[in-house]
Amino acid sequence: MQPAPVPVFDGHNDTLLKLELQQGTAKNRSFFEEAAFDHIDLPRAKKGGFAGGLFAMFVPSRIARNGEAAFNPADPANFAEISQEFAHKFTSRLFGQAERIAEKAPDLVSICRSSAEIREAMGTGRLAMILHIEGAEAIGKDLAELETFHGRGLRSLGPVWSRKNIFGDGVPMAFPASPDTGPGLTDAGKELVKECNRLKIQIDLSHITEKGFWDVAKLSDAPLVASHSNAHAVSPSPRNLTDRQLDAIAETGGLVGLNFHVGFTREDGAMRADTPLETLVRHMDHLIGRLGEDGVALGSDFDGCLVPAAIKDVAGLPKLVEAFRKAGYGEELIEKLCWKNWISVLQRAGI
Ligand SMILES: [Zn+2]
Repeated sequence: MQPAPVPVFDGHNDTLLKLELQQGTAKNRSFFEEAAFDHIDLPRAKKGGFAGGLFAMFVPSRIARNGEAAFNPADPANFAEISQEFAHKFTSRLFGQAERIAEKAPDLVSICRSSAEIREAMGTGRLAMILHIEGAEAIGKDLAELETFHGRGLRSLGPVWSRKNIFGDGVPMAFPASPDTGPGLTDAGKELVKECNRLKIQIDLSHITEKGFWDVAKLSDAPLVASHSNAHAVSPSPRNLTDRQLDAIAETGGLVGLNFHVGFTREDGAMRADTPLETLVRHMDHLIGRLGEDGVALGSDFDGCLVPAAIKDVAGLPKLVEAFRKAGYGEELIEKLCWKNWISVLQRAGI
């Protein structure tokens, strides 16, 4: 018999978006049935040890219902600003996706509202979902929707995705480039940070410009977190964090989740699925060097990116764990990286 895989609580996936967009297409799938494509469903989660994570609710600039081929990073239409009305409607549908999953099988999946609830769900073998908004377009300037979303389970929010909104600006998908690509937070963005602090909603710094990062660092009273970003010193993508940013995160007792996307891990930024897992380990080494063993975790970006073929999907997580072992990481460190650090940082943030 195979030994049980190391549990993983992961910082980022786009599974809710996939499930929403694929309705009514040939790729329509159920979260409860194993598919031969995409990255996360419950049967494959079980195989890989995936015990839960932050489930992103992201509103694309352009809705294409023909599946993953739709996203082309070279097409500016994919980065166009969106209206609050559209974003709000679509975000409600994504909340609905998560709620229907949890309601259909309360013994298998839970929407968790605190670190204690994550521990409890994991302890009883239920998949633990933390709801996250990626890009705050669904929220208006007066922030009224934030409290409603919090009531519906929202516990994490990235003020911007890689596009401009009323709160700030995000980094483009260029390579190589500095993350200092545009302005920081607007006045509304600063209010959003304060309101997230008040409601105990984690602020996610992945996708934000470097100026925006420093604005949040100055204002926020919570540990700084980038849920799915890597080390700029290893792979100079603007989606990655400079050593100065990593040091600032470390100072607050914050955390960075390792993104598996090959374009954010390779030194050359190439979109190659044959990228070896050692490339991910190189980022992990660098991140641990700057943030310490308690400040790094996983932020796979499953269902939203090109993962190395060696991992393939969520069932392949034990391959990454093997690569960590091969690199000399002990079991205690592996457990921290794979799940303990995420729960601890949420707890430190009062969640
Ligand atoms: Zn993202």
